[in-house]
Amino acid sequence: MPLKTPEEYEESIKREVNLYMFGEKISRFWEHPYYQIIKPSITTTKKIYELALIDEYKDIMTTTSHLTGEIINRFTSIHQSIEDLLKKVEMQRLLGQKTACCFQRCVGYDAANALYSVTYEIDQKYDTKYHMRFKQYWKEVQKHDLFVAGSMTDPKGDRGKRPKDQQDPDAFLHIVEENDKGIIVRGAKVHQTGFLNSHRALVMPTLAMREGEEDYAVSFGIDTNVKGLTMIYGRQASDKRKLEEGKIDVGNFKYGGQELFVIFDNCFIPHQHIFMNKEIDFTGELVNRFAGYHRQSYACKTGVGDVLIGAAALSAQSLGVANTSHIKEKLIEMIHLNETLWCSAVACSAKGFKRPAGNYEMDMLLANVNKQNVTRFPYELVRLAEDIAGGIICTLPSESDLKNPDTSKLLEKYLSTNSILPTEDRFRLIRFIESFAMGLTSPSYRTESLHGAGSPQAQRIMIARQGELEKKINLVKEILDMK
Ligand SMILES: Cc1cc2nc3c(=O)[nH]c(=O)nc-3n(C[C@H](O)[C@H](O)[C@H](O)COP(=O)(O)OP(=O)(O)OC[C@H]3O[C@@H](n4cnc5c(N)ncnc54)[C@H](O)[C@@H]3O)c2cc1C
Repeated sequence: MPLKTPEEYEESIKREVNLYMFGEKISRFWEHPYYQIIKPSITTTKKIYELALIDEYKDIMTTTSHLTGEIINRFTSIHQSIEDLLKKVEMQRLLGQKTACCFQRCVGYDAANALYSVTYEIDQKYDTKYHMRFKQYWKEVQKHDLFVAGSMTDPKGDRGKRPKDQQDPDAFLHIVEENDKGIIVRGAKVHQTGFLNSHRALVMPTLAMREGEEDYAVSFGIDTNVKGLTMIYGRQASDKRKLEEGKIDVGNFKYGGQELFVIFDNCFIPHQHIFMNKEIDFTGELVNRFAGYHRQSYACKTGVGDVLIGAAALSAQSLGVANTSHIKEKLIEMIHLNETLWCSAVACSAKGFKRPAGNYEMDMLLANVNKQNVTRFPYELVRLAEDIAGGIICTLPSESDLKNPDTSKLLEKYLSTNSILPTEDRFRLIRFIESFAMGLTSPSYRTESLHGAGSPQAQRIMIARQGELEKKINLVKEILDMK
């Protein structure tokens, strides 16, 4: 059975990489003091391997590969049914509940599912061999239970200009050379989730390319330690709190996301790892399908929301206001918003359909509605949690002061509330809510909800395209007997 243990996974990503962090090159990152900052993100991805081995979660976390017949981690699966699409969102909610952060695996999962059908359709039109190649590549991923990141490459330079018109041609990743063994690519990915923690990545274009932009119409798989790759670790709010002795001030000290800036400087990609090479007419479909799957994936935020609601409710209890009517109302509102997010995640999965390649896809309109909701509701959820928690989330002294004999008794005396939580646990809870509100424990709950899987306007464009306004107008005409 190709399922890695969490420990095997952790060992497998200890490879030398070209990584920079706080101005230092740290190739053997697991031996560097900054590992303390990176580690929560690895504990998070380890959790995915851990839950896949626990009987209680096997049904959600694993499935049978349609390529090999073996039991695999669901994150390496290609959806074979509506049930698979539903289990995907259930898994994402579960992981959000278990980690309260971005668990980093969705992007590659979504890229694989989009590439599965798009490569099939390119082959149908151009008699190419991408689909077979992709299946071969993905069998390897399943066999070794690999973590694959997803990269819709995106510095994008001047957003008002096409890729070919940019001052720097590398603003969009492109092919710089082609030979009988493969291609050489150059470009970058500004916002890259989990690249250091992953074994491979699937790279895709970020726009529907047009004539004259063929070199930008490229998609491929790449190992995360190949020659030419540079990673620069993304800075997070208060990240250096993780270097301090105590854990309380970090908030969510166990788990966290991971963002990097990744540069592809003349990376060689062999033919067998190329899944699109200049087929401009399929770039739009690849972008839309990947974005659709990924907008479905924001089901994760419902799981994170469950934890935030729990934190707000516990905070209300610890302040002795849990039975006050306006607090009850605010908690109901939080649940209502969070479950509304869940409704759209479930709906876009339940209304999925089968592609000619044989795999299943979510409903595009509902997936875009789901992500549009995610660009808004988490802001309100955090606002309500901040309201319930009180101003202390941005004024609380440090853990060191709580532990200092000179000040601990004073903090104990004035910050104790009732018997629900000892003062030290109150500190933990306040810091935990702070981490949602102020964007600690990478990445920011709110900004990631806003821009991850595309900024709000990207979903509105898709909603406009799929909204069938003419059909709605015709409904009126039919009822009113208009010609
Ligand atoms: C935490 C986080 C993690 C992420 N992880 C990944 C990942 O793992 N893989 C991945 O592929 N992507 C990832 N993304 C990238 C994400 O998809 C992008 O952030 C998203 O596409 C938006 O791009 P941008 O942030 O560069 O916004 P910008 O392009 O800088 O947009 C800023 C504003 O300009 C507007 N704008 C931009 N272009 C135009 C235009 N042509 N016309 C009109 N308005 C425009 C936008 O609507 C927005 O309001 C991640 C993002 C975040 C924030």
